[in-house]
Amino acid sequence: MNLRTEENAGREIPGILHLDMDAFFASVEVRDDPSLRGLPVVVGGAGARGVVAAASYPARTRGIRSAMPMASARRLAPDLVIVPPRIDVYREISAQVMALLGTVVADVEQISVDEAFLDVRGARRLFGEPEQIAELLRGKIRDELGLPSSVGGSVSRAVAKIASARAKPDGMLIVPADRTAAFLAPLPVSVISGIGPKAQATLERIGVRTVGQLRDVPSTTLTRALGPRAREVAALADGSDRTGLGHRTRDRSLGTERTWDADLTDVREVRRRITQMADDVARQLRRGGFVARTVVLKLRAPDGTTITRSSTFDLPTASGERLREQVVSLWERERDALPRVRLAGVRATHLEPAAGVPMQAELSARTSGWHDLEAAMDQAMERFGARSLSRGSTLGAAEDGSQRTAPGVEGGTRETGAPRGPEEPGGGLF
Ligand SMILES: [Mg+2]
Repeated sequence: MNLRTEENAGREIPGILHLDMDAFFASVEVRDDPSLRGLPVVVGGAGARGVVAAASYPARTRGIRSAMPMASARRLAPDLVIVPPRIDVYREISAQVMALLGTVVADVEQISVDEAFLDVRGARRLFGEPEQIAELLRGKIRDELGLPSSVGGSVSRAVAKIASARAKPDGMLIVPADRTAAFLAPLPVSVISGIGPKAQATLERIGVRTVGQLRDVPSTTLTRALGPRAREVAALADGSDRTGLGHRTRDRSLGTERTWDADLTDVREVRRRITQMADDVARQLRRGGFVARTVVLKLRAPDGTTITRSSTFDLPTASGERLREQVVSLWERERDALPRVRLAGVRATHLEPAAGVPMQAELSARTSGWHDLEAAMDQAMERFGARSLSRGSTLGAAEDGSQRTAPGVEGGTRETGAPRGPEEPGGGLF
């Protein structure tokens, strides 16, 4: 007995849980119409330009993924059942899930409509070890809301999120502290939030495909390949990351910037570049589950003259369209003063959680139908903006992957913030 107590005293508790609803929108539809059980069900627009917002697991086994054009989904499954989205219902259930989590765990940080991080260390006295708490939460969600969810646990929030993706569907995976590196070793480097297709390609060129291989890369090489993110990626890979619950989002920001070897002198080119950056930042916002109150444009002339201009929105947004409009208008006011551009950056600041908005449906902006989806999300945003804000002020959020995908604008001169593709293993599909 004593021996066991001593053991426990020295043991690190994998007390950060990541709870993620399984195929959230689709699961809600199947729950409310049990005749859909076992069928390839997708939620989304049925029209010619419709897009899959969520896919049930039977649909996924047919290769259907969210953000896929509905026409492609139909080709993969001629018996596809398409259910139109009921955003109000999802939002209501999202609130019920979060409220339910709050009855067990004090530290709940909602990061999207169907995901939350929980610090369960304070709940152990009442509810037991993280494994028991995870099962308690999953059981409550199943019994009280009739929905499946999965939970990952770790000493690190990044690893907890990777673990929940591996636990799906309807599972739990708690990674003990001393097993972290071994758990990650065989996984592809793309599981690390912030390693997008571009970084993945860079790593592949030096023969690195798995997290285990990444761990063996000398730090100077890793820094060359990944830039300023290298240190945190290395900490994650070797299991020493201990990032816990995030801070409030109020002072958080994300963005992208780029320096060119040859100055940009063509106004159309500058407009095109900053427009792309605004889109990229909007995508990062949606992916991270944020809306931004302010957008900042930074431009630098070849002589080092730097201007920074910002614009604040009436209603916080993650819309590429809105960001583009503001960024271009900020630039138009400055462009005569800056005929040659060496560096440009776009940054979203004063972030708040976009709770209740189905932002993850669009993991890939390259997918056709993207504009439809953005429009749909923006409508939802208009409708829910005010309530999202009040949630944001009470819950706070987010030192999560969204930050790693978006290293600071102040941080350097290489192009950053490459968005991840839709192939994020195991996750990202509600
Ligand atoms: Mg989910």
